[in-house]
Amino acid sequence: MRKPIVIANWKMNKSLDEALDFAGELKAKLPHGTVAHVDIIICPAFLHIAPVALNKILPSGVALGAQDAHWEEKGAFTGCVSPVMLKDVRTRYAIIGHSERRRYFGEASPMLKGKLTMSMRAGLVPVFCVGEGLGDRQAGKTFQALDEQMAVLGDISREFLSDPSEFILAYEPVWAIGTGHNATAEQAQEVHVHLRELLTSYWGSDQAQATRIVYGGSIAPDNFASIMACGDVDGGLVGGASLDCEKFLKLIEIARGGENGK
Ligand code: PEP
Repeated sequence: MRKPIVIANWKMNKSLDEALDFAGELKAKLPHGTVAHVDIIICPAFLHIAPVALNKILPSGVALGAQDAHWEEKGAFTGCVSPVMLKDVRTRYAIIGHSERRRYFGEASPMLKGKLTMSMRAGLVPVFCVGEGLGDRQAGKTFQALDEQMAVLGDISREFLSDPSEFILAYEPVWAIGTGHNATAEQAQEVHVHLRELLTSYWGSDQAQATRIVYGGSIAPDNFASIMACGDVDGGLVGGASLDCEKFLKLIEIARGGENGK
């Protein structure tokens, strides 16, 4: 059984005060015992991870994630943050290969392999993002585009994969991110099945069946339930709707409803 997971990707949003306020509001309003049923991850800007972590204002059991992490432990990489530094300030997860990093910063498979490997070596759980562009989907090349992005996982050493909860895969169709046009439940399920088949071919059936695959792309309280109801959707990676604590709480509640039978 795969525990549902909801991940907030705040991107380059919120002031420090707003981040702290959100954490406090979540603590006040999250129903007692929720984290036993749903994993909840907040990914603020790098700069805000340490104050949120060190102030201990998040509800107990809610974890912090970074939106990126470097492929080296340390060194002359101006402006970058290493997985070891993130671990040091109690970060547990790291989003790797988000489509905005691929698009605006030219991140591609060789670099992403390094980021995945170093994150896992440092003890972070990667949230590895893949997703086809609109052109790929319209040309009937969705699986082809995904296969190319997924191939890097075939190279990831099995030494890191002893615990399936230590790796999360996110399907984020680029055409759905921030557009208000989410994938349908059928589209999400079809792709998630394909991604799980790829994981099976890389890592074997046990690992693939236990690995959580989350959907991301214009998730909102009014569309998440049907997506979560899909057998191979194990949670959500949420941008815009995660900025509003009330909406985020609704998404957590919906994910909790999807906890059975996966
Ligand atoms: C994202 O950036 O990962 C994302 C899914 O954004 P949104 O929910 O705003 O589409």
